[in-house]
Amino acid sequence: MLSFKFAKSASKVIGNRNFHSSSASLANTTKLFINGKFVESKTKEWLEVRNPATQELVTKVPVSTKEEMEAAVKAASDAFPAWRDTSVSNRSRIISNYKNLINKNMDKIAAIITEEQGKTLPDAKGDVFRGLEVVEHSVNVASLMMGETVENVSKNVDIYSYVQPLGVCAGITPFNFPAMIPLWMFPLAIACGNTFVLKPSERVPSASMFLVQLAQEAGVPDGVVNVIHGGKEAVNFICDAPEVRAISFVGADQAGRHIHARGTANGKRVQSNMAAKNHATIVPDAHKERTLDALTGAAFGASGQRCMALSAAVFVGESKNWIPELAERAKKLKVAGGAAPGADLGPVISAASKQRIHELIQSGIDEGAKCILDGRNVVVDPEFSKGNFVGPTILTDVKPHMRCYKEEIFGPVLVCLNVDTVDQAIQLINANPYGNGTAVFTSSGAVARKYQREIDVGQVGINLPIPVPLPFFSFTGSRGSFVGAGHFYGKTGVQFFTQIKTITSNWRDDDISHGVSSSMNMPILGKN
Ligand code: NAD
Repeated sequence: MLSFKFAKSASKVIGNRNFHSSSASLANTTKLFINGKFVESKTKEWLEVRNPATQELVTKVPVSTKEEMEAAVKAASDAFPAWRDTSVSNRSRIISNYKNLINKNMDKIAAIITEEQGKTLPDAKGDVFRGLEVVEHSVNVASLMMGETVENVSKNVDIYSYVQPLGVCAGITPFNFPAMIPLWMFPLAIACGNTFVLKPSERVPSASMFLVQLAQEAGVPDGVVNVIHGGKEAVNFICDAPEVRAISFVGADQAGRHIHARGTANGKRVQSNMAAKNHATIVPDAHKERTLDALTGAAFGASGQRCMALSAAVFVGESKNWIPELAERAKKLKVAGGAAPGADLGPVISAASKQRIHELIQSGIDEGAKCILDGRNVVVDPEFSKGNFVGPTILTDVKPHMRCYKEEIFGPVLVCLNVDTVDQAIQLINANPYGNGTAVFTSSGAVARKYQREIDVGQVGINLPIPVPLPFFSFTGSRGSFVGAGHFYGKTGVQFFTQIKTITSNWRDDDISHGVSSSMNMPILGKN
């Protein structure tokens, strides 16, 4: 019999958690969601989810068995015909109900995120809100799925296209946005008429589970969304399952490249958003106070665990003199559990992650960088003494060959580089393999325009950090940060989850009187 000692907070945060077991032997373990039912796994392998601020056990996640994963894919496959044939208006109404329920439960979802992922409560609400925006956009699915028409391409012949769903789609998500990233995936996919199998990060499963509980409440029929749990085995199962037509992935490089290779080899569409090293370019003519505020928030917020965090600052010319003031601001940030009043930074996700961040800071120092603010021995309140905390850290005099520059640190560490001109900044950034996001801070329209044109990065902020586009655009990370068949959300997101069927029709106005004659030649429609 399994016997786990769970944190008291686990069940009190949101009350009714259908997705946690209440049976004596499996209490608080996370269930699967298959064909509209929260079911207990029969697995013998469980993965622990611990609160990163305290190490308390929150839940255990099953490594789904093969039979359970097959049941989830079968449920999605069986549910597809009826869901595809549900009118687009009714699908849209259900997504609209869903949007309202997410809004109503925003605080509860945020509390779950803080408990499992560690980010501060206000930041967790931002995580939910940015996902909610994609759900809001998905409500307009009918206008997003409109095909095209050209009338009379030949006598009595019209050509028109329909945008149709693919079938079963799947999503594999990372730990750092437990609500936003699942919400980038399944609401738009199902709004388009697909069914879905989600494999959330095994490190933060509960936000996804609560989101599917709400989807069911909103009226999403059984089998349309399913959830399996686990790590590599579950991922490989998704890549290989013949019924799965498309895979959405967000996470680190190793898994992203593997999933893209294995999924496409199996004939699936794959979109894979991966790691980043996002540079801020600080031009001396920028508004100093606003720029330093923006850098502080974007480098250290969420403890640097955002794929769009500004993790490298390129100071042009004299702007390097602002670095001591940046350090003063960073020093004042409060490091504490995410639910603690006034917390600016929560913990990082795991002890292993904390150790890796420490090592990367040390590697910078060993390679000649200066550590002007060292968060490795940050002091936190005694209740968080066991947490995975790293304080804001600033490395200066960093050079492009250093490991701390070349690798994504994914912690509250800002590496600072110096250049003499904006051209040199652009050259440096374009030589970096990643292309997720960048920001330039300047008061010159000419500099901003040059930067936006010449920088080879998919998302550019001008006097704005973390330029994550709203969902009427798409998330357009580029180069090493993305591989695949189409970007997330927006027009390209709809294209990713749909296929186009083109009809050429010939309703002859003389059919009834003259009958039909056949030709053996290739039809040349445009000539008549
Ligand atoms: P991760 O790659 O470790 O995990 C993501 C998912 O892949 C999880 O569901 C996990 O179970 C699975 N997985 C992990 N290793 C695997 C392997 N070897 N084979 C098959 N599956 C595997 O990522 P993470 O640590 O959870 O998330 C952080 C990373 O995600 C960072 O690199 C960050 O930049 C990136 N990220 C990118 C974006 C973006 O839009 N570009 C957004 C958020 C996060």
